[in-house]
Amino acid sequence: MRTKNAKRITSGESAHMGKVKESGCAVCGAGPYVDAHHIKQGAHFTTVGLCKQCHTGPMGIHGDKTMWRIHKMEEIDALNETLRRIYE
Ligand SMILES: [Zn+2]
Ligand SMILES: [Zn+2]
Repeated sequence: MRTKNAKRITSGESAHMGKVKESGCAVCGAGPYVDAHHIKQGAHFTTVGLCKQCHTGPMGIHGDKTMWRIHKMEEIDALNETLRRIYE
């Protein structure tokens, strides 16, 4: 549900997240089509490309983070990897 303070998503944010969603999983490399995980709610430029397993799966960032430990990744590393995949 949209709260009173929630800002409408801009075209720039939307375009960026489109690239994130085509950049593959920053943790395990699966893809190319993945979710855009928000490190901070409402901050659309700091989103990370994550497959279902590394995102909402039981071993994902919203679960027990097993996939993240296996690949020795934290959110800031995954953000760097997402941006590298988009720009390199
Ligand atoms: Zn993954
Ligand atoms: Zn998420």
